[in-house]
Amino acid sequence: MSKIDEKLQPVLDEVLRRNAGEAEFHQAVREVLESLGRVVAKHPDYANHALIERICEPERQIIFRVPWVDDLGQVQINRGFRVQFNSALGPYKGGIRFHPSVNLGIVKFLGFEQIFKNALTGLPIGGGKGGSDFNPRGRSDGEIMRFCQAFMTELQRHLGEYTDVPAGDIGVGGREIGYMFGQYKRLNNRYEAGVLTGKGLVYGGSRARTEATGYGLVYFVQQMLAARDMSLDGRRAVVSGSGNVAIHAIEKMGQFGGRVMACSDSNGYVFDDEGIDLELLKEIKDVRRERLSEYVRLKGAGAHYIENGSIWDVPCEIALPCATQNELTEKDARTLIKNGVIVVGEGANMPSTPEAVNMFQDAGVMFAPGKAANAGGVATSALEMQQNASRDSWSFEQTEERLAQIMRNIHDNCAATADEYSAPGNYVLGANIAGFVRVAEAMRSLGV
Ligand code: GLU
Repeated sequence: MSKIDEKLQPVLDEVLRRNAGEAEFHQAVREVLESLGRVVAKHPDYANHALIERICEPERQIIFRVPWVDDLGQVQINRGFRVQFNSALGPYKGGIRFHPSVNLGIVKFLGFEQIFKNALTGLPIGGGKGGSDFNPRGRSDGEIMRFCQAFMTELQRHLGEYTDVPAGDIGVGGREIGYMFGQYKRLNNRYEAGVLTGKGLVYGGSRARTEATGYGLVYFVQQMLAARDMSLDGRRAVVSGSGNVAIHAIEKMGQFGGRVMACSDSNGYVFDDEGIDLELLKEIKDVRRERLSEYVRLKGAGAHYIENGSIWDVPCEIALPCATQNELTEKDARTLIKNGVIVVGEGANMPSTPEAVNMFQDAGVMFAPGKAANAGGVATSALEMQQNASRDSWSFEQTEERLAQIMRNIHDNCAATADEYSAPGNYVLGANIAGFVRVAEAMRSLGV
């Protein structure tokens, strides 16, 4: 395990002390601080401005009650969060997650990651994240609408197109963004399109935003392979998850000639001898809103559902974890390496445990950290903000071309930064340092 520089150990100690019990936040901070020792050595002046200490402390943390009425007329209470982490580069920007596991520590880990990810896009967006412990599973459309309205009734006072611009994340897609935007507009009497991203196309959304995270991930992996004169063509892949990121990663893999053999949900995984049938997967998840086990019933021969199994047991050359944090463990990494994986690209946020990341790097597996590889989603959110600001609407091709260019830039920036800091091929180090330096320079310029 790589060590924290002795100058940075007190910073980590203070984060652990101040944020007791927030395991995921500790993990995310430790991972970034492990990369910053080399920055401290190169820029000793950063210490005078306490830039690393400041970046680890959110600018503002909001916790609120969300009362709503279910279909039986019962009042339900959930907890809502918004962590406005860093606004040195632009308005706070980052998604909202609805999942029963959501707590302050999870929102802080996601918000912290978002700062560096957003910086890597090169676009003017700060970092933030929000969410609720609301569980959307099994809830009717009416219940989802009332929950979104109740959530936004409180959150709206903290938002604005120049202040804080949320989007979706796990459990929050186009439907939920629509209900939240409707409530924001109702309460503020302003058609402020740029206050939320991931909107529907008919009311100010951007083409290619839905596809952007998964597509961007595959562009990034393709760039990593190209840097070693390799391609995706004909390669076997495994994509965990079956939500928006996974679906569009599978789609883009197919366009590059790769074959995705398996995908998953929280109950198990599907393996299909013929490769995952994308149209069927979309039908089950987007139209019917059903569990993945339905895939086998509808597909028939060739498809298998492995309940509670680890999807990482499926042999592949390309592994794309697109489900959730810490889903890929040291044991999974060992299995993947034994089975010949050559590249791992994180579509989710922090899906690999630190032990798994170390194992990949020690084995010489190309590894793309989420804050670089999944940045295409938030980058396209920033393009949506641009379109809203200029009251314009771009074509799919134009938007996707911008996305592809941004992913190339992120790839090249991470690779060049890794070279500059004497760690060629280390995209973790490259992403952390390149993201940090951009934010740190802005923070220094803006004063204390
Ligand atoms: N939730 C996404 C992420 O993790 C997108 C955030 C956004 O578009 O603001 O980056």
